[in-house]
Amino acid sequence: MPPKYHTQTASAPNRFPAVTRSGVIAWEEGCLKCARCVKKECVYKVYETRALDERQMLDSLDSACQDCFRCVQNCPARLIQKGVNPTYRTIGDHYWTPEILANIWSQAETGKIPVSGAGYGGPFSGPGFDAMWTDMSEIVRPTRDGIHGREYISTTVDLGRKLMALRFDEQGDLTHPVPPLVEIPVPFIFDILPFSPPKRRILRAFLRAATDLGTFVVVKESEWLPPYERYLPNTILLLDRGPDARNGHLLDRMRMVEVPDNPAVTEWLEMLKEKKPDLLVAIRMPLTPAAAARIAELTREGAEIIHLVADEFGMEEADEPFFIKDRLKEVHLSLVDKGLRDQITIIAGGGIAMAEHMAKVIICGADAVSCDIPLLVAMECRVCRRCTQGIACPVELEEVDPAWGSRRIKNLMAGWHNQLLEIMGAMGMREVRRLRGEMGRAMFFEDLEREFASLGARKTETPQ
Ligand code: SF4
Ligand code: SF4
Repeated sequence: MPPKYHTQTASAPNRFPAVTRSGVIAWEEGCLKCARCVKKECVYKVYETRALDERQMLDSLDSACQDCFRCVQNCPARLIQKGVNPTYRTIGDHYWTPEILANIWSQAETGKIPVSGAGYGGPFSGPGFDAMWTDMSEIVRPTRDGIHGREYISTTVDLGRKLMALRFDEQGDLTHPVPPLVEIPVPFIFDILPFSPPKRRILRAFLRAATDLGTFVVVKESEWLPPYERYLPNTILLLDRGPDARNGHLLDRMRMVEVPDNPAVTEWLEMLKEKKPDLLVAIRMPLTPAAAARIAELTREGAEIIHLVADEFGMEEADEPFFIKDRLKEVHLSLVDKGLRDQITIIAGGGIAMAEHMAKVIICGADAVSCDIPLLVAMECRVCRRCTQGIACPVELEEVDPAWGSRRIKNLMAGWHNQLLEIMGAMGMREVRRLRGEMGRAMFFEDLEREFASLGARKTETPQ
């Protein structure tokens, strides 16, 4: 694999006891007081080192146990049992489930893809991304081994506006300027967090990781600080105060900025291009039912990148909201119909919680994805949202060491990148750019349901 696609991983142990799925239940009542208690035989010294973490009220029994079942099997009075750790069930919410959080923590710690050992244990259908399956038909072809080295799979994406044709004068010189294009080796950028404790150190971890991975971090101009200056080439400054940026002098060293969508956005774009013609300008817009029409309009007016943002559960802003994948399909297909799709880059984010979500958003029409909460989870966030109420973070994220945080984020993204390669290898895809909008290579629950319903209807209409 070329070095630009390879992310160095290194173990980055947890700072706090992890919340694990299974816990140990050890009853004292009925204990036979064996001379040689099975608890002493635990090779991981779980009972001998037992302690309570008072910051999180977690019993170390649950996080340190390695599930070997030795003590469970050998206690003569059957007083030791294994069960689901009650704390585990309380973390996260309906979308950021304990399984998703545990999966992210494991990848962030090791840089490796978690292996279940007993096959896939997740749902085969459900809401959101679980209602979509990717085509893995090429998995049986041993010649397609882009994952393991004979050929490589490119995960590079281009950010910027693309020309549909080049025009030359009689001397063979181009008659028009070529818009700037930036290539990133991975199809993701890091986005603004919907919640976090004070984030100076967190942001520094993001910036370090993005720089090492060759990608970008979106940073609000109002949160920009001089110590971040060395990361400017990998920063997308969100000019939330408009193009007359207070930090306008930074633009010289930047490759890309973002501006919020608004009625004057085309003029803002022109003003920024006047200041720096090779600056990429992305237009940030919330995901709404009006997205397809608005993006088509902006593409015709010369926009180069759209950053579409759903909420933290992947939902759009609407009374009856669509999920990100569904609205994105509409946006992509509408641009294809109008002959505009190849001119514009679409970055989409919100609710991206797993590697497969990244692949699915690209299949539904995004060129790249933006990732937010998983980066915080990589640094042990429990998605408890106490920080939104000004309550102390149980894992002290405001004090995180940026070097450790960036290592955890790189580990996670290396795991996601490897899974993306697995998915593309199994689909017979050599380039993530070709994955964009490949909806024919996926199945959608609602389509299948419609097809089966129509089969049933046809059968009842058949004359006897
Ligand atoms: S199940 Fe194994 S690792 Fe866990 S406490 Fe018992 S002996 Fe130790
Ligand atoms: S663990 Fe809770 S308080 Fe800390 S950052 Fe995460 S959501 Fe906020």
